[in-house]
Amino acid sequence: MEPRTLLLTPWYFPIKVLRWQDAVKMRYENTADVVAEYEDEISSPSVTWRIPAVIRLRRMPVGNKRGIKFSRSNVYQRDGYRCQYCPPSAGRRAASDLTFDHVVPRAAGGRTTWDNIVTACRSCNLRKGNKRCDDIGMFPLNAPLRPRFLPLAGPRIERESAPEEWHAFLPEIA
Ligand SMILES: [Zn+2]
Repeated sequence: MEPRTLLLTPWYFPIKVLRWQDAVKMRYENTADVVAEYEDEISSPSVTWRIPAVIRLRRMPVGNKRGIKFSRSNVYQRDGYRCQYCPPSAGRRAASDLTFDHVVPRAAGGRTTWDNIVTACRSCNLRKGNKRCDDIGMFPLNAPLRPRFLPLAGPRIERESAPEEWHAFLPEIA
């Protein structure tokens, strides 16, 4: 498998996993510094260097004026990776257990936007189906809104399968 590079915030919090080529580009554009390298080397006729394993942003990019992009992973982050119809005690879930739910169903004109989409587990999504909240008595824990900030959840990285070079930068899972 192609080696990947772990991207950190300026304060060493993991935010993203990158293709190593993108990491090299950021290093040469001086937007990030290399924190750890792999043993593997890349050579061109004139230089030989090691593939970056971990890089750190020099500064956090400023969010764009149009706000946070609507995307699956950003909706999950806004909702803390919790199904909005399960009791709060159900806790966080893996992205693979989650899906989008239209609060106002598409069949009733509900749109795929920040204020009509919530995170739901597959069984709740199936149960709610095309029904309105009132009809089935399922209401999201939090009213869906376009977020102004996202909590930094970071990528979910399994320590066991992560390269050793990353370990020092991965949060301990309780
Ligand atoms: Zn659920």
